[in-house]
Amino acid sequence: MDRIIIENLEVFARHGVFPEENVLGQKFLFSLTLWTDTRRAGISDALEDSVNYGEVCHLVQEYATSHTFRLLEALAENLVEELLIRYPSLSQVDLTIRKPWAPVGLPLESVGVAISRKRHLAFIALGSNMGDRRGYLDGAVRALRERRDCRVLQVSDYLVTEPYGGVEQEDFLNGALSLETFLSPEELLDVLHEIEAAADRRREVRWGPRTLDLDILLYDDLVLDLPQLTIPHREMHLRSFVLDPLRQIAPWKRHPLLGLTVESMAEKLRQNT
Ligand code: ATP
Ligand code: CA
Ligand code: CA
Repeated sequence: MDRIIIENLEVFARHGVFPEENVLGQKFLFSLTLWTDTRRAGISDALEDSVNYGEVCHLVQEYATSHTFRLLEALAENLVEELLIRYPSLSQVDLTIRKPWAPVGLPLESVGVAISRKRHLAFIALGSNMGDRRGYLDGAVRALRERRDCRVLQVSDYLVTEPYGGVEQEDFLNGALSLETFLSPEELLDVLHEIEAAADRRREVRWGPRTLDLDILLYDDLVLDLPQLTIPHREMHLRSFVLDPLRQIAPWKRHPLLGLTVESMAEKLRQNT
C-alpha cells in the first residue's frame, strides 16, 4: 500500500505527567505514515484526489495544542482516531511522537511512543425473540451508529426465523450488519455486551428467549480462539438464520477457515434442509 510521510513536525504543547510540563510546555516531534492508495492522485495530478499533508500537519498542531494529556500514549491514540475519522481514504495511520526535552534527568536524545492503527471490517449478527423485537434490533443499530469508534455500513432486512436449540419459545427476528471499527475484537465484544445489557438482556438459558443477542461473526480475516471469544463465530456456517441476512449485505465475503463465500454456505444449507 502507498504511503504519505510526514517527519518530525515540531509542535510546542503541554502534555506530561508532571504539573510543570502542563504549565511550561515543551517540544514534541510528530512523525506520521498515512496509508492510502495514491494511484488516482498519481494519475490525475489533482490535490483533491489525495490526502493534503499540509492540512494534516495543521490538524496535528491544532489537536496537540488544544488538548492536554498526561501520557503520550493517550495523545497518540486520540490523535490517530481523529485522523482516521477525518480522512476516510486512510486505511492505516502510523504515528510516532517524541519528546526531546523529556524530564528524565539523564542525557538522552528523545523518548517517545509509536503506534499503528487501522480500520477493521466486522460483521455482526442480531437476534431478538422477546417483546418489541424490531425495536430491540433497531436500538442496537442506533447504539452502534452513535459511537465515534464504529461506523455502521450496511444493515440487512430483519428475517423471521424459528428458534434454534430445542427450547420452546417465540420466533426470532434476525438480522446482520457490517461495521467499520477501530475497536479490537475484545473491545467490540464488550461493547456488544453493554448494548445487550442496556436492552434488559439477562443471561439465563443458553439459546433461550432473549431481548437482544449480538454476536461477532467475522472480523477482517481474523481467526481468533480465546476462552471468551471465537472468530469466526463457531456455528455461523451451520445457521441459515445467520447466513440468510448476511448474504444480503456480503454474499462475496469468504469464511477465513472454510474458504467458502457466505452465498455458497447459505446455498449449501438450503440444499441440506
Ligand atoms: P451462540 O454463541 O451459540 O450463538 P448465544 O449467542 O446464545 O449462543 P450467549 O449467551 O449470548 O450465547 O453468549 C455466551 C458467550 O459466548 C458470550 O459471553 C461470549 O463471551 C462468547 N462468545 C464467543 N465467541 C463469540 C462471538 N464470536 N460473538 C459473541 N459472543 C461470543
Ligand atoms: Ca447467538
Ligand atoms: Ca451471543
